[in-house]
Amino acid sequence: MSTWRRAQQLAATHGIDALLVTPGADLRYLTGYVALPLERLTCLVLPAHGEPRLVVPALERHAAEASGTDVEIATWGETDDPFALVADLVGDATTIGLNDHMWASRVFAFGEAMPFADQVLAGSLVQQLRIRKDAHEIAALREAGEAIDRVHLRMAEWLRPGRTEREVGADIARAIIDEGHTTVDFVIVASGPNGASPHHELSDRVIEVGDAVVVDIGGTVPAGYCSDSTRNYLAGGTVDPQYAEAYAVLEAAQQAQREHARPGVTAESVDAVGRRLIADAGFGDLFIHRTGHGIGQETHEEPYLVEGNDLVLEEGMAFSIEPGIYVDGRFGARIEDIAVCTADGLEVLNNTPRGLVAL
Ligand code: ZN
Ligand code: ZN
Ligand code: ZN
Repeated sequence: MSTWRRAQQLAATHGIDALLVTPGADLRYLTGYVALPLERLTCLVLPAHGEPRLVVPALERHAAEASGTDVEIATWGETDDPFALVADLVGDATTIGLNDHMWASRVFAFGEAMPFADQVLAGSLVQQLRIRKDAHEIAALREAGEAIDRVHLRMAEWLRPGRTEREVGADIARAIIDEGHTTVDFVIVASGPNGASPHHELSDRVIEVGDAVVVDIGGTVPAGYCSDSTRNYLAGGTVDPQYAEAYAVLEAAQQAQREHARPGVTAESVDAVGRRLIADAGFGDLFIHRTGHGIGQETHEEPYLVEGNDLVLEEGMAFSIEPGIYVDGRFGARIEDIAVCTADGLEVLNNTPRGLVAL
């Protein structure tokens, strides 16, 4: 069954008469159309009952058709009012569900075009579908995992003392494409003290002998699914003994989390298993973020592996397992794999060595 038919069924059971979905990951998931977020309106109109329409500007018709979507396309001309067209298609619906990432300007325009309908946020409804990956989606995530692993395995070609993070990052970005991605989503090369900032990207800092370097990289493969993996490298020399001590704890924690995560356990329990080990070793305050995020057509989506999320993991859920330890002004370390719940266990999609890799 197409994903939009499943979304229709969910909308009906939630009392939503029609879903409106503008460009973004939800639209791509429901229609296969990777639409540009343009000033001209593109919007999937998905009634709980009846046939959907993909409303697109006339000049985008060919692009929308090229996506191969099975949703009928309705175009609007340059001087037409697209919001009136959507209101027409929605008809007498009284509860309208909107995707979470819709621009506020669209929300207001729809409100004005359909003044008698209630607007509700419906992103969680599509998330309920997106959170469980089918075999095709898992195959695409596996392909993404293998592609990013090949980049990590080539790190010695680029990462060495005397080069800046930015130079190394540019080489990594090229390799992300060469190894099978269509886009580079992010490149983090955090050397020495910069490692203490989990989302540090690239700077002009020159990598020094003995630096530990956090490399967290990801892209999107042609099938539309994302990769995301972090490894840690030693740029020559010898490692700071305190770093080595923290790293051993981190490795044990990440391994314990991989061994624990499976269908039937809660998202927060995966976080707790690793956090306990890190805290017992005295580094509890230095693990300053959640353990992981779901991944699919977006790098960050549900489920989030975080304290307070009692969601029970199920077959097909894919997420990162990425504990970290960060010491301000000195160093940081993070080990990150993407994994997917199988029927009775966990398939880990990143499989390069997890220890500190000496270059
Ligand atoms: Zn992140
Ligand atoms: Zn991640
Ligand atoms: Zn990452």
